[in-house]
Amino acid sequence: MSEAITIYKAYKYRLYRCDQKDRKLRHKIFVASTIWNHFIALQRRTYQLTGKYISLMQMNNHVLKLRKTQRFRLWKDLHSQACQDVCYRIDEAYMRYFKKVVKGRPKFKKARKYSSFTFPQSGYKVDDNTVTIDGTKYKFVKHREMGGRIKALTVKRDRVGRLWLCFRVKEDVVIGKASTGKSGGFDFGLKTFLTDDEGRPYASPQFFTQGIRKTLKLNRELSRKMDGSKHRKRARRALAKHSADVANKRSEHHFQLAHRLCDEYDTLYFEDLNLSGMKALWGRKVSDLGFASFVSILEWVAFKRGKRVVKIGRFAPTTKTCSGCGQRHHLTLRDRVLNCDCGLVIDRDHNAAINIKTAGTSAVFQSVRKTKVPLRQRVDGRSPQL
Ligand SMILES: [Zn+2]
Repeated sequence: MSEAITIYKAYKYRLYRCDQKDRKLRHKIFVASTIWNHFIALQRRTYQLTGKYISLMQMNNHVLKLRKTQRFRLWKDLHSQACQDVCYRIDEAYMRYFKKVVKGRPKFKKARKYSSFTFPQSGYKVDDNTVTIDGTKYKFVKHREMGGRIKALTVKRDRVGRLWLCFRVKEDVVIGKASTGKSGGFDFGLKTFLTDDEGRPYASPQFFTQGIRKTLKLNRELSRKMDGSKHRKRARRALAKHSADVANKRSEHHFQLAHRLCDEYDTLYFEDLNLSGMKALWGRKVSDLGFASFVSILEWVAFKRGKRVVKIGRFAPTTKTCSGCGQRHHLTLRDRVLNCDCGLVIDRDHNAAINIKTAGTSAVFQSVRKTKVPLRQRVDGRSPQL
């Protein structure tokens, strides 16, 4: 029996290019940036004078009041709820800061770097592949249907200068059923991206390294352009385009691999990653492989298909223990093969994958877990900004 769950999903579409109309949307993003900076300044000044924080409700009321004044008439160009959404973002940012999720307080943002605004409820109309904002019709490339009700719309400008529509859609998805009964342990490695407990490797191309000659060339060109010139802008966009292409290739590959693994396994055991530690040890290559983004993609795919991803505690000595007899060894990063006294000679990653599977299937993890909705898709509370 399949289970249906209501979740939020994001759908992203590229807008048709049209310089005249695009300018209107880019202007609205600019207006949003002025609101952001105004309220950041206001929060800081208020704190200096009174030691108090201006609550979201106060900000929401205040922005509407200012919008009506002659001095802030510019803000009229942006829908009232979209103006309030900027306050919402500021509140979110301060909450993250107060709860010590992030270190620094929210900052001022250059208009060039402030890249989106959101209609949290209304202010736009969608009709097949056209969206109407302030009486202007914009066409977008509707490469896939949305499967639910649209709840919010974010207009976003990426670093290449392209405009995108991001719809937040409330949707019932049917969760697939575990089907194969098979479980597997997996170890991340540098030589091979993943190794499973049967010793099979899953390679991953290093997309960044493949594109590095072009990256270097574009960087060189950028650095030769004069500050603030049109050529510099063009060069910056060319570099951003290239980086986006690399990132797209990587994520495409991650989705394919995630589906391949879910085809075969019902339960997948992984080691909880200590990424900053890994980066310190191994450098850029770790970022290029994108272990963390792969894990979050895999969790999403597994959730949708009714599979389980279980993470094993970070401090289990999965690499150093012999999977045959349990003896501990001292391995350096260079040692690719584990050579145990019990006669077992085994590839290091393969050995770790077996240990991860053993740890996962052992008593601690036997309790049946309910399928967990990934954080971003949860319906309770608002999901993070796109
Ligand atoms: Zn052994």
